[in-house]
Amino acid sequence: MLTTGPRGTRDILPDSSGYWQYVENMIREVCRNFAYQEIRTPIFEHTELFLRGIGETTDIVEKEMYTFTDRGKRNITLRPENTAAVVRSYLENKLYAGPQPTKLFYIGPMFRYDRPQAGRYRQFHQFGVEAIGAQGPAIDAEIISLAVEFLNRLGLNDLKLLINSVGCPACRPVYRTKLQEFFRDKVSQLCTDCQSRYDRNPMRILDCKNETCTEHSQGAPHMVDCLCDECSSHFTGLKEHLTAAGINFVINPRLVRGLDYYTKTAFEIQYSPLGAQSAVCGGGRYDGLIAECGGQPTPGIGFAIGIERVLLALEKQELLPIINNAIDVFVAPLGAETQAAAFQILTELRRANIAVDMDFINRSLKAQMKYANKYPAKFVALIGQDELAQNKVMLKNMETGSQELVERAELVHMIIEGMEK
Ligand SMILES: [Zn+2]
Ligand SMILES: [Zn+2]
Repeated sequence: MLTTGPRGTRDILPDSSGYWQYVENMIREVCRNFAYQEIRTPIFEHTELFLRGIGETTDIVEKEMYTFTDRGKRNITLRPENTAAVVRSYLENKLYAGPQPTKLFYIGPMFRYDRPQAGRYRQFHQFGVEAIGAQGPAIDAEIISLAVEFLNRLGLNDLKLLINSVGCPACRPVYRTKLQEFFRDKVSQLCTDCQSRYDRNPMRILDCKNETCTEHSQGAPHMVDCLCDECSSHFTGLKEHLTAAGINFVINPRLVRGLDYYTKTAFEIQYSPLGAQSAVCGGGRYDGLIAECGGQPTPGIGFAIGIERVLLALEKQELLPIINNAIDVFVAPLGAETQAAAFQILTELRRANIAVDMDFINRSLKAQMKYANKYPAKFVALIGQDELAQNKVMLKNMETGSQELVERAELVHMIIEGMEK
């Protein structure tokens, strides 16, 4: 137990943390281009928030939440996703009082008690954005365009964007009835989940992965054919904006989000080289969520991207960058009596914003040179007793192999000059 992490968790080690930083830097760069600002909410919230914000009948809430009672007898849950928390923060901190829409992004760990499998963890990481306070389809197109731009900049180009409209509380009940009529004499042949969905949430039958259910939903009526005027013109507007931005899309009527506060636009981005787990991004509009969480009715839209999934795609396509751990200088004390002087030089160099390391375990000169080469280091500063007595340091350029006895006082200056070459 002491030397094994909990099931479904993993460490991000130094040999791969550079890839994470690369992806995170890209997120920040793209979000800056799109004028979205970062929000950091706590990793735990009141359980009630997720019951409301995700929905009590969803798999996440029914089976996958990490919930516990804290010492103050509060019911607490580790966030399984972040939209509800962002909405909570938007309301609590009155972000609606600022310029609208409120455009936010987040990066961070989420927690779900899921069965661990390849590329899926109980602690996983998401990048997401939320735009709260804008009603028209332009912001839907902006959100989608942000996701596409982020993936493209990483080099992921064979993307498939699926869009749909899930309607609104005005037109969905009509569709729901049509759908129930369609499935009426097929219910008993559906999987047990779908049998209970038939009454509670028949739209979810459409996205069931069970083969029999998929077969039985062939020919089912489409939500896009039942939209009210407002939803219909919103959907048309979205398509126009995407076309204007040169973003290809496919309408997929199976893309549904069954809960009442999900409205209008639903979308997914697939990256087919990932095979069965090809969905890298999912999102949509949630015009009913802010009111559900206790605020004034306010429109909102967002998406979430699984960072592990993105890294998997980058690895598969050999798009991961080469991580550079090189340092500028390695300080090599020659003998224990030069350690303190070496440490002083090390400190001076670091204060001059130079990347430096030194030997801390009394290696031989040969071993130190080998270690310096591993980084690699551009220079090695050899700190010998005789040279120190003359206020000098032997500076070796590891790229050219040349070495030079330099004045102690000139060292920082010489290195800065040498780095610029
Ligand atoms: Zn509608
Ligand atoms: Zn099913």
